[in-house]
Amino acid sequence: MTGKLIVLTGPSGVGKGTLLKALLAQHPELYLSVSATTRSPREGEVDGVHYYFYPRDRFEREIAAGALLEWAEFAGNYYGTPIAPVKSQLDLGRSIILEIELAGARQVAKIFTDALRIFILPPDFQTLEARIRDRGTDSPEAILRRLEQAKVEIAAQSEFDYQIVNDDFQTALAELEQLVSNG
Ligand code: 5GP
Repeated sequence: MTGKLIVLTGPSGVGKGTLLKALLAQHPELYLSVSATTRSPREGEVDGVHYYFYPRDRFEREIAAGALLEWAEFAGNYYGTPIAPVKSQLDLGRSIILEIELAGARQVAKIFTDALRIFILPPDFQTLEARIRDRGTDSPEAILRRLEQAKVEIAAQSEFDYQIVNDDFQTALAELEQLVSNG
């Protein structure tokens, strides 16, 4: 038996990370893929736990070596999914969740046609903008890039199997749990 590949996408600031943290607390059998990125760690982020933080040349070597299942540039940085843990989790029959942006989600959809693909939406764009600005972790330029990218991602929501609106957190979490358990 092989596990299920679950792709979770949605604009920056929509609360994907918080939803996943709560989901994983309830479902320790699920494995969350740790991505590689060239962006700098935010306060509290730990190398190897939240991301593998690579310099650009290291990231480009990983691409050249075929070590990434997918990768994309987002708001000026590279992000990508190391392929080895994905393979080993699926081979063990365990489900794995990739929390990735749109371009990466499209690449994965081509490789894993039976992946479960879920898109998380904000209640409205103003709420999203406020969340990104209030997070206080990004430069003004990065905030603008994230907002522009958010519009592009939201416009692609119908490419996904399911959409969840993260308005009331507990409702969104229950919907996510339902999809992951049965989807
Ligand atoms: P952040 O900088 O806010 O942690 O992430 C920025 C965006 O990159 C988010 O939309 C996040 O889902 C996405 N992302 C994180 N890891 C990966 C990855 O491995 N591949 C791709 N394609 N996107 C990723």
